[in-house]
Amino acid sequence: MIEIFINGIIPLTTLGYVIYTLAVTHITIVAITLYLHRGVCHSAIDIHPILSHFFRFWLWITTSMRTADWVAIHRKHHAKVETEHDPHSPAFFGINKVLFQGADLYHMEKNNKETIEKYSQNCPTDWIEEKVYTGRNNLGILILFILNIILFGTVGIIIWSIQMMWTPIFAAGGINGAGHHWGYRNFNTNDDSTNMSPVGIIIGGEELHNNHHAYPTAAKFSLRPWEFDIGWMYIKLFGWMGLCRVKRLAPKPVVQNEQNTDSKLITQSILQSKLAVITDYTQKVLKPIYKKENFHLSFKLLADHPNRLNQKQETKVNNLLAKNNKLNAVYNLKNKLHELLHSREIKHDNFVEILNKWSDEAKTHGIEALDDFIVRLRSYKVI
Ligand SMILES: [Zn+2]
Ligand SMILES: [Zn+2]
Repeated sequence: MIEIFINGIIPLTTLGYVIYTLAVTHITIVAITLYLHRGVCHSAIDIHPILSHFFRFWLWITTSMRTADWVAIHRKHHAKVETEHDPHSPAFFGINKVLFQGADLYHMEKNNKETIEKYSQNCPTDWIEEKVYTGRNNLGILILFILNIILFGTVGIIIWSIQMMWTPIFAAGGINGAGHHWGYRNFNTNDDSTNMSPVGIIIGGEELHNNHHAYPTAAKFSLRPWEFDIGWMYIKLFGWMGLCRVKRLAPKPVVQNEQNTDSKLITQSILQSKLAVITDYTQKVLKPIYKKENFHLSFKLLADHPNRLNQKQETKVNNLLAKNNKLNAVYNLKNKLHELLHSREIKHDNFVEILNKWSDEAKTHGIEALDDFIVRLRSYKVI
Protein backbone atom coordinates (compact mmCIF):
# COMPACT_ATOMS: atom_id res chain seq x y z
CA MET A 1 0.00 0.00 0.00
CA ILE A 2 2.80 2.42 1.00
CA GLU A 3 4.67 1.43 -2.13
CA ILE A 4 1.65 2.30 -4.29
CA PHE A 5 1.46 5.69 -2.57
CA ILE A 6 5.14 6.35 -3.32
CA ASN A 7 5.29 4.98 -6.89
CA GLY A 8 1.64 5.04 -7.94
CA ILE A 9 -0.02 2.34 -10.02
CA ILE A 10 1.94 3.24 -13.17
CA PRO A 11 5.61 3.66 -12.26
CA LEU A 12 7.53 5.11 -15.23
CA THR A 13 11.14 5.90 -16.01
CA THR A 14 12.28 9.52 -15.68
CA LEU A 15 11.97 9.90 -19.46
CA GLY A 16 8.47 8.45 -19.24
CA TYR A 17 7.43 11.08 -16.68
CA VAL A 18 8.91 13.85 -18.85
CA ILE A 19 7.09 12.62 -21.97
CA TYR A 20 3.81 12.26 -20.05
CA THR A 21 4.12 15.78 -18.60
CA LEU A 22 4.94 17.30 -22.00
CA ALA A 23 1.99 15.45 -23.56
CA VAL A 24 -0.62 16.55 -21.01
CA THR A 25 0.58 20.17 -20.93
CA HIS A 26 0.54 20.18 -24.73
CA ILE A 27 -3.09 19.06 -24.74
CA THR A 28 -3.89 22.01 -22.45
CA ILE A 29 -2.20 24.42 -24.84
CA VAL A 30 -4.10 22.90 -27.80
CA ALA A 31 -7.38 23.30 -25.86
CA ILE A 32 -6.56 26.97 -25.22
CA THR A 33 -5.57 27.86 -28.77
CA LEU A 34 -8.22 25.82 -30.61
CA TYR A 35 -11.22 25.94 -28.32
CA LEU A 36 -10.90 29.14 -26.23
CA HIS A 37 -9.02 31.33 -28.66
CA ARG A 38 -9.73 30.42 -32.30
CA GLY A 39 -13.07 28.72 -31.60
CA VAL A 40 -15.15 30.62 -29.03
CA CYS A 41 -13.31 33.93 -28.80
CA HIS A 42 -12.80 34.77 -32.50
CA SER A 43 -15.20 32.32 -34.22
CA ALA A 44 -12.50 31.41 -36.71
CA ILE A 45 -13.36 27.70 -36.48
CA ASP A 46 -16.39 25.59 -35.61
CA ILE A 47 -15.61 22.72 -33.25
CA HIS A 48 -17.80 19.62 -33.06
CA PRO A 49 -19.59 19.31 -29.67
CA ILE A 50 -17.75 16.04 -28.89
CA LEU A 51 -14.40 17.82 -29.18
CA SER A 52 -15.45 21.07 -27.55
CA HIS A 53 -16.89 19.14 -24.56
CA PHE A 54 -13.59 17.31 -24.25
CA PHE A 55 -11.66 20.63 -24.34
CA ARG A 56 -13.96 22.21 -21.76
CA PHE A 57 -13.54 19.23 -19.43
CA TRP A 58 -9.78 19.17 -19.96
CA LEU A 59 -9.44 22.88 -19.20
CA TRP A 60 -11.53 22.41 -16.05
CA ILE A 61 -9.31 19.66 -14.66
CA THR A 62 -5.98 21.15 -15.75
CA THR A 63 -6.46 24.91 -15.37
CA SER A 64 -9.80 25.67 -13.63
CA MET A 65 -10.29 28.46 -16.20
CA ARG A 66 -13.87 29.30 -17.22
CA THR A 67 -14.55 29.84 -20.92
CA ALA A 68 -16.41 33.13 -20.29
CA ASP A 69 -13.55 34.59 -18.21
CA TRP A 70 -10.79 33.72 -20.67
CA VAL A 71 -12.77 34.81 -23.72
CA ALA A 72 -13.92 38.13 -22.18
CA ILE A 73 -10.43 39.08 -21.00
CA HIS A 74 -8.93 38.23 -24.37
CA ARG A 75 -11.59 40.12 -26.35
CA LYS A 76 -10.97 43.15 -24.14
CA HIS A 77 -7.25 42.81 -24.88
CA HIS A 78 -7.97 43.10 -28.62
CA ALA A 79 -10.44 45.96 -28.14
CA LYS A 80 -8.24 48.05 -25.84
CA VAL A 81 -4.80 46.87 -26.92
CA GLU A 82 -1.80 48.72 -25.42
CA THR A 83 -3.97 51.17 -23.46
CA GLU A 84 -4.56 51.46 -19.73
CA HIS A 85 -7.69 49.30 -20.22
CA ASP A 86 -5.78 46.43 -21.89
CA PRO A 87 -5.77 43.70 -19.18
CA HIS A 88 -2.17 42.69 -19.89
CA SER A 89 -0.24 45.19 -22.00
CA PRO A 90 3.55 45.19 -21.52
CA ALA A 91 3.51 48.75 -22.89
CA PHE A 92 1.35 49.79 -19.94
CA PHE A 93 2.29 47.37 -17.11
CA GLY A 94 5.91 46.78 -18.13
CA ILE A 95 7.27 43.56 -19.61
CA ASN A 96 8.39 42.02 -16.29
CA LYS A 97 4.97 42.36 -14.70
CA VAL A 98 3.20 40.68 -17.66
CA LEU A 99 5.90 38.03 -18.05
CA PHE A 100 6.16 36.99 -14.40
CA GLN A 101 2.80 38.05 -12.95
CA GLY A 102 0.61 37.50 -16.00
CA ALA A 103 -1.61 35.10 -14.05
CA ASP A 104 -2.21 37.77 -11.36
CA LEU A 105 -3.30 40.25 -14.04
CA TYR A 106 -5.67 37.60 -15.42
CA HIS A 107 -7.20 36.96 -11.99
CA MET A 108 -7.57 40.68 -11.34
CA GLU A 109 -9.51 41.18 -14.58
CA LYS A 110 -11.54 38.02 -13.97
CA ASN A 111 -13.04 39.73 -10.93
CA ASN A 112 -14.12 42.73 -13.02
CA LYS A 113 -17.80 41.85 -13.57
CA GLU A 114 -18.24 44.60 -16.16
CA THR A 115 -15.52 43.09 -18.37
CA ILE A 116 -16.96 39.57 -18.16
CA GLU A 117 -20.52 40.73 -18.91
CA LYS A 118 -19.56 43.01 -21.79
CA TYR A 119 -17.19 40.68 -23.65
CA SER A 120 -18.47 37.16 -23.01
CA GLN A 121 -21.17 36.81 -25.67
CA ASN A 122 -21.56 33.34 -27.28
CA CYS A 123 -19.87 31.54 -24.38
CA PRO A 124 -21.46 28.30 -23.12
CA THR A 125 -24.18 28.70 -20.48
CA ASP A 126 -25.43 25.10 -20.32
CA TRP A 127 -26.02 23.03 -17.18
CA ILE A 128 -22.49 21.64 -16.93
CA GLU A 129 -21.00 25.14 -17.35
CA GLU A 130 -23.12 26.61 -14.57
CA LYS A 131 -23.20 23.72 -12.11
CA VAL A 132 -19.77 22.17 -12.62
CA TYR A 133 -17.25 24.38 -14.47
CA THR A 134 -18.44 27.54 -12.68
CA GLY A 135 -20.15 26.17 -9.56
CA ARG A 136 -17.37 23.66 -8.82
CA ASN A 137 -14.60 25.74 -10.32
CA ASN A 138 -11.65 24.26 -8.38
CA LEU A 139 -12.93 20.70 -8.06
CA GLY A 140 -11.34 19.76 -11.40
CA ILE A 141 -7.78 20.54 -10.37
CA LEU A 142 -8.35 18.74 -7.05
CA ILE A 143 -9.51 15.62 -8.94
CA LEU A 144 -6.40 15.87 -11.12
CA PHE A 145 -4.22 16.13 -8.01
CA ILE A 146 -5.69 12.91 -6.56
CA LEU A 147 -5.54 11.15 -9.96
CA ASN A 148 -1.87 12.08 -10.42
CA ILE A 149 -1.02 10.62 -6.98
CA ILE A 150 -2.92 7.40 -7.77
CA LEU A 151 -1.14 7.10 -11.13
CA PHE A 152 2.38 8.20 -10.26
CA GLY A 153 2.63 8.49 -6.47
CA THR A 154 4.76 11.34 -5.14
CA VAL A 155 6.06 12.15 -8.65
CA GLY A 156 2.43 12.83 -9.52
CA ILE A 157 2.54 15.86 -7.20
CA ILE A 158 5.46 17.30 -9.19
CA ILE A 159 3.66 16.62 -12.49
CA TRP A 160 0.52 18.29 -11.12
CA SER A 161 2.54 21.35 -10.03
CA ILE A 162 4.05 21.65 -13.52
CA GLN A 163 0.57 21.36 -15.05
CA MET A 164 -0.66 24.14 -12.76
CA MET A 165 2.26 26.40 -13.68
CA TRP A 166 2.22 25.72 -17.43
CA THR A 167 -0.60 28.07 -18.42
CA PRO A 168 0.44 31.00 -16.18
CA ILE A 169 4.03 30.79 -17.48
CA PHE A 170 3.58 30.05 -21.17
CA ALA A 171 0.14 31.45 -21.94
CA ALA A 172 -0.40 34.32 -19.52
CA GLY A 173 3.25 35.39 -19.30
CA GLY A 174 4.77 34.07 -22.52
CA ILE A 175 2.18 35.02 -25.12
CA ASN A 176 0.79 38.15 -23.49
CA GLY A 177 4.21 39.39 -22.46
CA ALA A 178 6.79 38.19 -24.99
CA GLY A 179 4.23 38.26 -27.83
CA HIS A 180 3.95 42.03 -27.34
CA HIS A 181 7.62 42.72 -26.79
CA TRP A 182 10.16 40.47 -28.55
CA GLY A 183 10.37 39.14 -32.08
CA TYR A 184 9.65 40.35 -35.59
CA ARG A 185 6.62 42.00 -37.14
CA ASN A 186 5.12 41.14 -40.51
CA PHE A 187 2.43 43.80 -40.20
CA ASN A 188 2.32 47.36 -38.95
CA THR A 189 -0.62 46.79 -36.61
CA ASN A 190 -1.70 49.47 -34.13
CA ASP A 191 -0.16 47.57 -31.24
CA ASP A 192 3.21 46.11 -30.20
CA SER A 193 2.40 42.50 -31.17
CA THR A 194 5.28 40.36 -32.42
CA ASN A 195 5.95 36.95 -33.97
CA MET A 196 8.42 34.56 -32.36
CA SER A 197 8.38 31.76 -34.93
CA PRO A 198 9.69 29.10 -34.86
CA VAL A 199 10.88 29.16 -31.24
CA GLY A 200 7.39 29.13 -29.80
CA ILE A 201 6.04 25.83 -31.10
CA ILE A 202 5.55 25.03 -27.44
CA ILE A 203 2.68 27.53 -27.24
CA GLY A 204 0.54 26.05 -29.97
CA GLY A 205 1.10 28.55 -32.78
CA GLU A 206 0.14 31.46 -30.51
CA GLU A 207 3.70 32.73 -30.89
CA LEU A 208 2.65 34.17 -34.29
CA HIS A 209 0.96 36.95 -32.36
CA ASN A 210 1.58 39.82 -34.79
CA ASN A 211 -0.07 37.82 -37.58
CA HIS A 212 -2.96 37.13 -35.22
CA HIS A 213 -3.44 40.81 -34.31
CA ALA A 214 -3.32 41.66 -38.03
CA TYR A 215 -6.09 39.13 -38.81
CA PRO A 216 -7.79 38.20 -35.50
CA THR A 217 -10.58 36.13 -37.03
CA ALA A 218 -8.31 34.00 -39.22
CA ALA A 219 -8.02 30.32 -38.21
CA LYS A 220 -4.46 29.96 -39.49
CA PHE A 221 -1.77 32.06 -37.79
CA SER A 222 1.18 31.29 -40.08
CA LEU A 223 1.31 33.61 -43.10
CA ARG A 224 4.91 33.41 -44.34
CA PRO A 225 6.48 30.35 -45.98
CA TRP A 226 8.95 29.83 -43.10
CA GLU A 227 6.34 30.11 -40.34
CA PHE A 228 4.82 27.03 -38.72
CA ASP A 229 1.56 27.06 -36.80
CA ILE A 230 1.12 23.80 -34.92
CA GLY A 231 -2.45 24.83 -34.00
CA TRP A 232 -3.27 24.89 -37.71
CA MET A 233 -1.88 21.36 -38.00
CA TYR A 234 -4.40 20.21 -35.36
CA ILE A 235 -7.22 22.11 -37.09
CA LYS A 236 -6.43 20.22 -40.30
CA LEU A 237 -6.22 16.93 -38.40
CA PHE A 238 -9.53 17.43 -36.58
CA GLY A 239 -11.05 18.73 -39.82
CA TRP A 240 -10.07 15.51 -41.55
CA MET A 241 -11.78 13.59 -38.70
CA GLY A 242 -14.93 15.68 -39.15
CA LEU A 243 -14.51 17.36 -35.74
CA CYS A 244 -13.59 20.85 -36.87
CA ARG A 245 -14.51 23.30 -39.65
CA VAL A 246 -12.57 26.39 -40.75
CA LYS A 247 -14.76 29.51 -40.95
CA ARG A 248 -12.29 32.24 -41.84
CA LEU A 249 -8.76 32.68 -43.16
CA ALA A 250 -6.64 35.79 -43.64
CA PRO A 251 -6.99 37.39 -47.08
CA LYS A 252 -4.12 36.35 -49.33
CA PRO A 253 -3.05 39.23 -51.53
CA VAL A 254 -1.12 38.41 -54.69
CA VAL A 255 0.29 40.80 -57.27
CA GLN A 256 -0.84 40.08 -60.81
CA ASN A 257 0.98 40.94 -64.03
CA GLU A 258 -1.77 43.22 -65.27
CA GLN A 259 -3.31 46.22 -63.49
CA ASN A 260 -6.92 46.37 -62.34
CA THR A 261 -8.95 48.93 -64.25
CA ASP A 262 -12.31 48.53 -62.55
CA SER A 263 -12.46 51.01 -59.66
CA LYS A 264 -14.57 48.67 -57.51
CA LEU A 265 -11.96 45.93 -57.88
CA ILE A 266 -9.07 48.34 -57.15
CA THR A 267 -10.84 49.53 -54.00
CA GLN A 268 -11.75 46.06 -52.77
CA SER A 269 -8.34 44.52 -53.46
CA ILE A 270 -6.37 47.31 -51.79
CA LEU A 271 -8.62 47.67 -48.74
CA GLN A 272 -8.67 43.91 -48.14
CA SER A 273 -4.86 43.85 -48.42
CA LYS A 274 -4.15 47.06 -46.53
CA LEU A 275 -1.73 45.57 -44.02
CA ALA A 276 0.17 43.76 -46.77
CA VAL A 277 0.20 46.97 -48.86
CA ILE A 278 1.95 48.93 -46.09
CA THR A 279 4.37 46.04 -45.49
CA ASP A 280 5.16 45.98 -49.24
CA TYR A 281 5.68 49.75 -49.34
CA THR A 282 8.03 49.54 -46.36
CA GLN A 283 10.07 46.74 -47.95
CA LYS A 284 10.03 47.87 -51.59
CA VAL A 285 10.20 51.66 -51.32
CA LEU A 286 11.36 52.77 -47.89
CA LYS A 287 13.97 50.09 -47.19
CA PRO A 288 16.00 50.36 -50.45
CA ILE A 289 16.33 54.14 -50.00
CA TYR A 290 17.24 53.73 -46.34
CA LYS A 291 19.84 51.07 -47.19
CA LYS A 292 21.48 53.06 -49.98
CA GLU A 293 22.28 55.95 -47.67
CA ASN A 294 23.57 53.79 -44.79
CA PHE A 295 21.82 55.78 -42.08
CA HIS A 296 22.79 55.26 -38.44
CA LEU A 297 19.28 54.64 -37.22
CA SER A 298 17.35 51.42 -36.72
CA PHE A 299 15.11 50.81 -39.72
CA LYS A 300 12.42 49.59 -37.33
CA LEU A 301 11.85 53.20 -36.24
CA LEU A 302 11.07 54.23 -39.81
CA ALA A 303 8.97 51.14 -40.49
CA ASP A 304 6.76 51.71 -37.44
CA HIS A 305 3.81 54.06 -37.50
CA PRO A 306 4.81 57.41 -35.89
CA ASN A 307 2.11 56.89 -33.22
CA ARG A 308 4.11 54.01 -31.84
CA LEU A 309 7.32 56.03 -31.29
CA ASN A 310 8.23 57.59 -27.98
CA GLN A 311 9.48 61.17 -27.86
CA LYS A 312 13.15 60.24 -28.00
CA GLN A 313 12.61 57.98 -31.01
CA GLU A 314 10.49 60.62 -32.73
CA THR A 315 13.27 63.19 -32.33
CA LYS A 316 15.81 60.75 -33.82
CA VAL A 317 13.56 60.08 -36.81
CA ASN A 318 12.82 63.78 -37.37
CA ASN A 319 16.53 64.69 -37.19
CA LEU A 320 17.32 62.11 -39.83
CA LEU A 321 14.46 63.12 -42.11
CA ALA A 322 15.47 66.78 -41.89
CA LYS A 323 18.81 65.87 -43.46
CA ASN A 324 17.47 63.76 -46.32
CA ASN A 325 14.74 64.98 -48.65
CA LYS A 326 14.29 61.70 -50.51
CA LEU A 327 13.86 59.67 -47.34
CA ASN A 328 11.60 62.35 -45.92
CA ALA A 329 9.38 62.19 -49.02
CA VAL A 330 8.92 58.40 -49.03
CA TYR A 331 8.47 58.31 -45.25
CA ASN A 332 5.71 60.93 -45.34
CA LEU A 333 4.04 59.17 -48.27
CA LYS A 334 4.03 55.92 -46.25
CA ASN A 335 2.23 57.63 -43.38
CA LYS A 336 -0.24 59.27 -45.75
CA LEU A 337 -0.95 55.92 -47.38
CA HIS A 338 -1.44 54.36 -43.94
CA GLU A 339 -3.98 57.08 -42.98
CA LEU A 340 -5.71 56.70 -46.31
CA LEU A 341 -6.12 52.95 -45.92
CA HIS A 342 -7.30 53.14 -42.32
CA SER A 343 -9.46 56.28 -42.49
CA ARG A 344 -13.08 55.79 -41.46
CA GLU A 345 -14.12 58.63 -43.75
CA ILE A 346 -13.03 56.85 -46.89
CA LYS A 347 -16.02 55.40 -48.69
CA HIS A 348 -15.79 52.79 -51.37
CA ASP A 349 -17.04 55.26 -54.00
CA ASN A 350 -14.36 57.89 -53.35
CA PHE A 351 -11.40 55.63 -52.62
CA VAL A 352 -9.88 55.59 -56.12
CA GLU A 353 -10.15 59.36 -56.40
CA ILE A 354 -8.21 59.81 -53.13
CA LEU A 355 -5.72 57.11 -54.14
CA ASN A 356 -5.09 58.95 -57.42
CA LYS A 357 -4.27 62.11 -55.49
CA TRP A 358 -1.76 60.15 -53.42
CA SER A 359 -0.27 58.62 -56.60
CA ASP A 360 -0.01 62.06 -58.30
CA GLU A 361 1.87 63.43 -55.32
CA ALA A 362 4.15 60.36 -55.30
CA LYS A 363 4.94 60.77 -59.01
CA THR A 364 6.22 64.33 -58.51
CA HIS A 365 9.29 62.99 -56.68
CA GLY A 366 10.62 61.04 -59.67
CA ILE A 367 11.70 58.06 -57.55
CA GLU A 368 11.75 54.81 -59.52
CA ALA A 369 10.79 52.56 -56.58
CA LEU A 370 7.77 54.80 -55.94
CA ASP A 371 6.68 54.71 -59.61
CA ASP A 372 6.90 50.90 -59.54
CA PHE A 373 4.83 50.83 -56.38
CA ILE A 374 2.07 52.95 -57.93
CA VAL A 375 1.73 50.31 -60.65
CA ARG A 376 1.84 47.55 -58.02
CA LEU A 377 -1.00 49.18 -56.05
CA ARG A 378 -3.38 48.58 -58.93
CA SER A 379 -2.21 45.02 -59.44
CA TYR A 380 -3.30 43.47 -56.12
CA LYS A 381 -5.73 40.60 -56.15
CA VAL A 382 -7.11 38.84 -53.08
CA ILE A 383 -7.42 35.08 -53.30
ZN1 LIG B 1 -2.09 40.35 -28.08
ZN1 LIG C 1 -6.97 36.81 -30.14
